[in-house]
Amino acid sequence: MFDPTSLIPTEELKAFRDRIHQVAKEKISPQAALVDEEEFFNREVESLLWDLGLLTLTFPEEYGGIGKNKTAALCIAVEEIAKYCASSALLLIIQAVGSFPIIHGGSAELRRTYLPQMSKGRKLVAYLVTEPSAGSDVSGIRTTAKRVGDHYLLNGSKCFATSGGVAGIYSVLAKTSEEKEKSSFFLVERGVQGLSVGRTEHKLGQRGSNTTEVFLDSVQISAENLLGIEGEGFLIAMKDFDMSRPAIAAQALGIAEGALETLLQSAREKQNLQQPVKELPILQAIIADSATLIEASRGLVYRAAILNDEGKNNTKLASMAKCFAADAAMKITAEVIDALHILDGYGSLKISDAERMFRDAKLTQIFEGTNQIQRLVISRQVLKEWI
Ligand SMILES: Cc1cc2nc3c(=O)[nH]c(=O)nc-3n(C[C@H](O)[C@H](O)[C@H](O)COP(=O)(O)OP(=O)(O)OC[C@H]3O[C@@H](n4cnc5c(N)ncnc54)[C@H](O)[C@@H]3O)c2cc1C
Repeated sequence: MFDPTSLIPTEELKAFRDRIHQVAKEKISPQAALVDEEEFFNREVESLLWDLGLLTLTFPEEYGGIGKNKTAALCIAVEEIAKYCASSALLLIIQAVGSFPIIHGGSAELRRTYLPQMSKGRKLVAYLVTEPSAGSDVSGIRTTAKRVGDHYLLNGSKCFATSGGVAGIYSVLAKTSEEKEKSSFFLVERGVQGLSVGRTEHKLGQRGSNTTEVFLDSVQISAENLLGIEGEGFLIAMKDFDMSRPAIAAQALGIAEGALETLLQSAREKQNLQQPVKELPILQAIIADSATLIEASRGLVYRAAILNDEGKNNTKLASMAKCFAADAAMKITAEVIDALHILDGYGSLKISDAERMFRDAKLTQIFEGTNQIQRLVISRQVLKEWI
């Protein structure tokens, strides 16, 4: 139907895509419905992702990274896995997002200490930015990091932390000054005194991802654990978005492709009806619109990813990709549900993968900046180019 390798920049990455596709279809897909239904973090899939090197994909090469074309590789892996299980794809994304401040902000000594723990030691990382009173407006965070001699003292509450309850390491954003925008990232280990994991969220979709609160109560960490220059955490978060937004877009793209495939499979099974599916105009329209949106999403995802890998500014494209692909996934999964209803009746929806994909798609409009925020970013960039 589609050429999933179109826009993939190298032959190596095309072979990489084929390998991930096969594993996702054979090993991850059969577990996706159960993981969603019982809402558990799948250690078996986590282990498989480590074995495949997917949880260190964006690390420096000596610690298991792929080297060149990191963002494109991340998007390829995420897309292929999300076709079958969006929760498993999210684990890859958050590992890349959470490790970004450590890889790009950590001192050489800190990276030498922690990157082997994260790669060989197979430690997951969580990214602690959002707070009950600060989601879209990151500058509103209230968690503080106070310098005391050669230590920092961290206090605050974080929420919606993906992998919060299963991570061994946390990248934590905290205020290091009274000034609104002056915040900094810190590396905090799981076992440190004063850090505790709170409630696990029950979510609408991507229910196999672990999402929790994390509390920091007078957590004392070495000043060496500061990531980047004090006060410049916001800049690290923005650079991280340039990688993570194409990745979320790839997740939405994968979900949309998975949903359309579900519909096409069902249509094939109904070939012998009195009026063949291919002659039902309403289904033709759904299939046409979905396939078109998928191709358009693919174009944006890989343009945004390749620009980032080339070291060029991709902020506008990354937001366009995230916003467009997430809205497209929402529309496609909703229309696939309509189409399956026409083909099979309501009862079949409860057991269809499309129902899970519909719920999973919704979250892609929310995290890594809601789609309303993406529109603000895009319009700001467009106006900057013109005025
Ligand atoms: C499943 C899941 C996993 C997540 N994982 C993580 C994670 O690992 N780490 C982490 O730090 N965070 C994570 N988040 C948090 C996520 O990034 C935030 O939910 C998101 O940034 C939105 O913040 P909020 O929910 O507080 O909404 P709010 O910021 O309170 O916004 C509420 C509504 O108002 C709109 N809005 C806000 N400001 C504006 C504006 N200026 N203009 C127009 N509309 C506006 C928003 O679009 C939204 O619709 C996760 C969230 C979810 C749902």
